[in-house]
Amino acid sequence: MHRVLIVEDEEHLAEGLRLNLEAEGFAATVEDNGQVAFDRLTSDPTAFDVVLLDVMLPGLDGFELVRRLRAAGHFVPVMLLTARSHTDDVLAGFEAGADDYLPKPFDLSILLARLQGLLRRKMWLRGRAVEGALEDLQEFTFDGKRIDFREQALHWDGTTQPLTLMEATLLRYLVRHTGQTVSRKALLEEVWGVREDTDTRTIDNFIARLRRYLEAEPSHPKYLQTIRGVGYRFVAEPDEGGAGSER
Ligand code: CA
Repeated sequence: MHRVLIVEDEEHLAEGLRLNLEAEGFAATVEDNGQVAFDRLTSDPTAFDVVLLDVMLPGLDGFELVRRLRAAGHFVPVMLLTARSHTDDVLAGFEAGADDYLPKPFDLSILLARLQGLLRRKMWLRGRAVEGALEDLQEFTFDGKRIDFREQALHWDGTTQPLTLMEATLLRYLVRHTGQTVSRKALLEEVWGVREDTDTRTIDNFIARLRRYLEAEPSHPKYLQTIRGVGYRFVAEPDEGGAGSER
């Protein structure tokens, strides 16, 4: 049974969510204060499989809560529930380390589909829902760096950088398509599984974050290349100064 923490201070909405999620077979718990939710999550990091997180909260707001969680090395999947549907707020949520977002008001069926999507990706990364040998990419090593998809972490020179669920999922998709140009549209559909109106700047934002981990010079990427007007391409062994490294 998947365990969901609902962090929502609007009692009516929180209880409605709790009842509906329980009816769908989830174990659901409600917290109405950001700080209390943060303390609960960090005191027992394996207590929940996924967090539904309101943005406007007493104690700590949702952005700050997820930022502090990630800074504390806590990488539970987080879906933001935001009444603010402005693109900049959505991007701020991803920048803070959220994995997905849903603008309020939302249909329960859409919430459930997105929640299942997050949980499925988590299992897929952890190798528990292997659909075939090709899906079972658990590690990838290049240029002295080792990506461990099960752990959701990047290792190099004795350093470990934890990855959020979506960072790891995106990176795995790019690595599985090494040398191929993948479009932003394909990434949105294949990695995020979201509807078409989602801003593709979401992807650019995640790519920028991955570059900070992977690249010696994030502004001059060698591995995570931008293919202008199309999308991105991951190369494990870039030609030094060679063609095809257009930024
Ligand atoms: Ca609220």
